[in-house]
Amino acid sequence: MERRGSHSPGEESLQEFPGLESIHERESRLLASYAMHSSQSRGRRHAEPEHAYRSDFQRDRDRVLHCGAFRRLSDKTQVFSSRSDYQRTRLTHTMEVASIARTLGRSLRLNEDLIEALALLHDIGHPPFGHAGEDALAECLAEEGGFSHNEYALTIVEQIEQRYARFPGLNLTLEVLDSQSTRAQKSSPEVAPLLEAQVVEAADSTTYDAHDVDDAVKIGLVSLDELLDIPLVADCVGRVTGRFGVLSAGMLRKTVVHELIDCQVRDVLQNSLRGLATQEFVTSDQARRSDFRIGPCPSLAEKKAKLEEFLYRRVYRHPEISRVRGQAQHMLRQMFERLLARPKWMPDFFLRHAENVGLKRAVAHYLAGMTDGYCRQQSGKILGAT
Ligand code: MG
Repeated sequence: MERRGSHSPGEESLQEFPGLESIHERESRLLASYAMHSSQSRGRRHAEPEHAYRSDFQRDRDRVLHCGAFRRLSDKTQVFSSRSDYQRTRLTHTMEVASIARTLGRSLRLNEDLIEALALLHDIGHPPFGHAGEDALAECLAEEGGFSHNEYALTIVEQIEQRYARFPGLNLTLEVLDSQSTRAQKSSPEVAPLLEAQVVEAADSTTYDAHDVDDAVKIGLVSLDELLDIPLVADCVGRVTGRFGVLSAGMLRKTVVHELIDCQVRDVLQNSLRGLATQEFVTSDQARRSDFRIGPCPSLAEKKAKLEEFLYRRVYRHPEISRVRGQAQHMLRQMFERLLARPKWMPDFFLRHAENVGLKRAVAHYLAGMTDGYCRQQSGKILGAT
């Protein structure tokens, strides 16, 4: 594999911008030795000339941001669908993850551009209707190895997106592809994610723990009083009340959510800085292959687990959520069966895709790419047609 194209080397391009510091110089000035410097990137599947004023990871971030699958996150369920227009969508969740991940990454002197690219990418493979959609498609593909949104994200950026004349997919760097791939194999003990990928994992968990509390209370599925049994929330309410006294219910909810984010970010940062200070990592590779992991301290991790157990039991399995979940799964399973019997109802692209991945998986990929709204609209056509 060729790392760079043979023309337009970065040094020549820089001459077009007098006074502009090279990306590699700026990174070596600002980033820690254990960060993933773009000068150390293993490159892309299809070699491309270096860009004059954007690093390889900045280009990856922009390619994800500008692709169609990213825009479709705006109408994909995070947890709560169609209850109101207050709750998070998969897109706003992604933007919150990116913001928290960048805060952590900058403080840890990691590569913020790589972190942002990974954060924007991390949920791009989610089917419509959140985890309900993923479970339904996994069931449809049970005999073919199941369906994982993390693996589908890689399929999107390598095969489905067609935006560049010179190559299929987005031609992202191998660091971004490998990092997304480690998300798909989280449970494997051999997985050694870059510190930048670890930051995105910590930010993802920080984000959903806080915003699922916010959305669930706002929508009325649980009350803040019920959440006082959860130590992490009780701690936050105690600090907020100590600082501001009595607040209205709405202001209390919002302030507790700020505190939930802040206390987690502070803890991950303090715990990770302490850990990094005892290590002497000289390279990013050394850091990722070590036992060190970016994340909360054991006591906060325990409190987060209790909150997540509550959210699972009382929110994600709430009868109202389960009812919508059941309807969405029934619809997706029916659409899957119908398209399997009538594949020509799919766009030509997915008929060609079926030649590579098999018909069942191509049908699942077609359905997984839909937004909630488009899926509902198509269900009328597909299930109503004879
Ligand atoms: Mg996420």
